[in-house]
Amino acid sequence: MAKEIWIADVQSGAHDGDEIELKGWVKRTRGSNKIRFVVLRDSTATIQCVAKRDSIGDESFEELKGALIEASLEIRGIVNPDDRAPGGHELIVTSVRVVGGVRPDSPFPITESAMESADGGETEFLLDNRHLYLRTSRMTNMLKIRSSVFGAIHSYFRDLDFTEYQAPNFVAGAVEGGSTLFEVPYFGKKAYLTQSWQLYAEAAMPALERLYTIAPSFRAEKSRTRRHLTEFWHAEMEVAWASNSEIMNHGEGVVRHIAKRLLNERENELNEIGRDLDLLARYADNPYPRMRYDEAIETLQSMNVDVEWGQDLDYSKEKVLTQDFDVPHFLTHYPKVAKPFYHRVDPDDEKYVLCHDLLAPEGYGEIIGGGERTWSEEEILARIDEEGVPREPYQFYIDTRTYGGVPHGGFGLGVDRVCSWLSGAEHIREVIPFPRDSRRVTP
Ligand code: ATP
Ligand code: MG
Repeated sequence: MAKEIWIADVQSGAHDGDEIELKGWVKRTRGSNKIRFVVLRDSTATIQCVAKRDSIGDESFEELKGALIEASLEIRGIVNPDDRAPGGHELIVTSVRVVGGVRPDSPFPITESAMESADGGETEFLLDNRHLYLRTSRMTNMLKIRSSVFGAIHSYFRDLDFTEYQAPNFVAGAVEGGSTLFEVPYFGKKAYLTQSWQLYAEAAMPALERLYTIAPSFRAEKSRTRRHLTEFWHAEMEVAWASNSEIMNHGEGVVRHIAKRLLNERENELNEIGRDLDLLARYADNPYPRMRYDEAIETLQSMNVDVEWGQDLDYSKEKVLTQDFDVPHFLTHYPKVAKPFYHRVDPDDEKYVLCHDLLAPEGYGEIIGGGERTWSEEEILARIDEEGVPREPYQFYIDTRTYGGVPHGGFGLGVDRVCSWLSGAEHIREVIPFPRDSRRVTP
């Protein structure tokens, strides 16, 4: 039953002249009453299969003729190298079995013309049929790229002896702020879906010192942009005894590692979706400059963007700022007033906090947010009170400081955002199988 032969191996010449069995799905089918041309796809590649009534007999031929787009097949034949065939090989069919058919009264809804008018899968029709859209070559490529991004993040941290650590998804307090909290009923009480792993990671920082995760985070983002989801995958890390600058080294390290990994593992997929590989090589090979928030504000003001010192930068501002970046840039030292209590105040100038955002070029904007944490008990209590945040839900967090606090920090990287920027997608929805936003939780 298990499949032994993959179409990509056939196309690479591993089975020339052999009689083999392929298992896959019909991508395209055409022909006459005497000869059929079926493009078969599996998860690795496609191959054209040629079947003649004379050689396979009426029964097999009729079966193949009735196999519509996305019918699943077991198909035997002889591999024929042929430069004119797409991929360089074709299969001369000897027998066919339809495993799961498609009824003529309900053909596969995602036609090539629906794809062409879709511009990356963004029409409502394609979003409604997301479960079927996953089978298209564009989405298959995106999912493979995504898998390599996840793998690269794990390997970056594990190679540096970080411990993978899991935090709860039901929580009692906000990390990012109340306006994007999802409230859930919890046995007569209220709980929230977590916005970040960070606070619970800080609790384990004195135990593990170097820790990371890749987990979903939830934010009730009302504004729909091309880079916000309500459920997104968040790669977060926390390190003891680390400064803002050392944490940025890891942010740069992991992003460059991801770009390098994609070039090694996913060159074909990136080519197929039309991504410029030179850009990825540039992001993999060059250091990422660091710029203070104040300089970014001056730059934006000199470009006549309406922005005031003290504001956090939203997408509209980051877009302008990053349009001309050749590689990602860190923005550091945001004003204290723009950031929540856990950001450590800069001891050299109390107007600022020791934080950073990593902004991706091509007008993409923020992919990482991080920095040093307020780590002494006295300072954390002062910051919590100053912001009018209740102490009670954060007692466990305060305890981390009460018992042997140390300087530490970390960052959160939006994995879907990195996938979408590095693949050159128009919209973050293109890189996640079932995107969730304020208007859609289905399919
Ligand atoms: P933004 O200002 O773009 O909403 P943020 O400042 O809220 O981002 P952080 O709280 O710093 O983001 O979260 C860390 C990272 O998680 C971000 O840099 C981003 O890559 C990712 N991220 C945050 N919110 C979302 C979201 N709604 N959808 C996808 N990724 C997100
Ligand atoms: Mg946000």
